[in-house]
Amino acid sequence: MRKGIYPGSFDPVTLGHLDIIHRAADLVDELVIAILHNSSKKGLFTTEERIDLLKRVTEDIPNVKVISFDGLLVDCAIQYGTKTIIRGLRAVTDFEYELQLAQTNKRLRPDIDTIFLTTNVKYSYLSSSVVREVASYGGDISHFVPEKIIDDVYKIVKRGEKK
Ligand code: ADP
Repeated sequence: MRKGIYPGSFDPVTLGHLDIIHRAADLVDELVIAILHNSSKKGLFTTEERIDLLKRVTEDIPNVKVISFDGLLVDCAIQYGTKTIIRGLRAVTDFEYELQLAQTNKRLRPDIDTIFLTTNVKYSYLSSSVVREVASYGGDISHFVPEKIIDDVYKIVKRGEKK
């Protein structure tokens, strides 16, 4: 069985992420979506909220599993039985960071490889921070996130502002 792991912050999941998830799920028998919090980034959405949103938007994709992991991505990959990391590339600006990450992971675990899927041009500008920013001003996010999570995204972003 061929498994892949798609790691990220997903703070929150966007249509750009979902596009990568659909395409990656076609390439492997099982796709593990891993919400990682080993970086210095502190998110707006809690891990439980990110898991919930990701599970809801992927409920129609049978070979997807959503997990969270506190530690190194390579350890997470091995724990879930995969040596294939999948990442998305939007623009040249992503490339330097992604290359560094992939090479670091290769140094840590030479048997693990990273595969890059290029963005769907429809979503090449889209990021979780764009969603957070637009939602915080009450702007229309229907082109950014799946319809079924729009209300929750507004609610959580508004909650974050009150803090
Ligand atoms: P991270 O903080 O690990 O970069 P993100 O949630 O921002 O996590 O992104 C996870 C992965 O999805 C990254 O490889 C990123 O480049 C990719 N990604 C994010 N948005 C898009 C998009 N609109 N199109 C294609 N790939 C994307």
